[in-house]
Amino acid sequence: MSGTEKDRFIHAHSKVCKGEAGKTGDWRSSRPQIDPSKCTPMKNQRPSCFICWLYCPDGVVKRSIPVEIDLDYCKGCGICAEECPTKAITMVEEKKDA
Ligand code: SF4
Ligand code: SF4
Repeated sequence: MSGTEKDRFIHAHSKVCKGEAGKTGDWRSSRPQIDPSKCTPMKNQRPSCFICWLYCPDGVVKRSIPVEIDLDYCKGCGICAEECPTKAITMVEEKKDA
């Protein structure tokens, strides 16, 4: 989802877009992992919720089925996991040597 498309749905004071602070994936100590059995759009196969997309400060969550997160840019802040209403997102430790 591009920054322009995002603007059609939200009117935030701060309009972030992917990669605004560079490839922040390098900073990450933990990564978000989505459980498809708990994620509303993935479970129902219908576009809905996408709260994680709305709150991600780096604009790296794709409003798609399945929901996708661009790990090149995800900084591992955990906001998506905090905001997910169904607790479908778990932050797991990043394995640097994996
Ligand atoms: S906020 Fe949670 S339930 Fe909603 S789309 Fe994101 S992962 Fe799925
Ligand atoms: S942890 Fe979640 S909210 Fe934070 S940058 Fe990654 S996808 Fe976005």
